[in-house]
Amino acid sequence: MRNFFQRLSEGYRRFMVGRYGSDQLSRFLMFLSVVMLILNMIFRSRTPIFYFLVWALIVYSYFRMFSKNIEKRYNENTRYLQLKEKVMNWFRNRRSSGKYYNSSASNRDSYQNYNQAYHNAQSGSHTMRSDREHRIFRCPSCDQRVRVPRGRGKIEITCPRCGQTFVKRS
Ligand SMILES: [Zn+2]
Repeated sequence: MRNFFQRLSEGYRRFMVGRYGSDQLSRFLMFLSVVMLILNMIFRSRTPIFYFLVWALIVYSYFRMFSKNIEKRYNENTRYLQLKEKVMNWFRNRRSSGKYYNSSASNRDSYQNYNQAYHNAQSGSHTMRSDREHRIFRCPSCDQRVRVPRGRGKIEITCPRCGQTFVKRS
């Protein structure tokens, strides 16, 4: 039995090579589907559209996790994080107006996720290269190459290998 589970997790690992995996957006979608299920139980809604929405959310989350189009999934997650940041800022500004909030924390999460996804995809067809949309930096502590989107100004980059953070102009 133990052998069976070992083979299963080994198979899953092999299956996930080159695939995007989970991120903030898919976790949010899963959370949303659970909230909708609970609301459905509380209100005993009999409308089929509700069940359809819950299933659509679950299927879409899995589709994103198993997707091999890492670039596209990353951009979706970035848009989600930017939108979330805007919403959070709106709430913060209502509480205390005129204060400046730094968004580097969520940006850092986003870049870390991006680099992890690329790390997972290394045995796939993706190769790390610099182009008009991306820049490559080397981690000052372990020399790991880190690829980030261009034109985001000064950003804090977290090395996916050793966790060292360093600031670069993208
Ligand atoms: Zn490093």
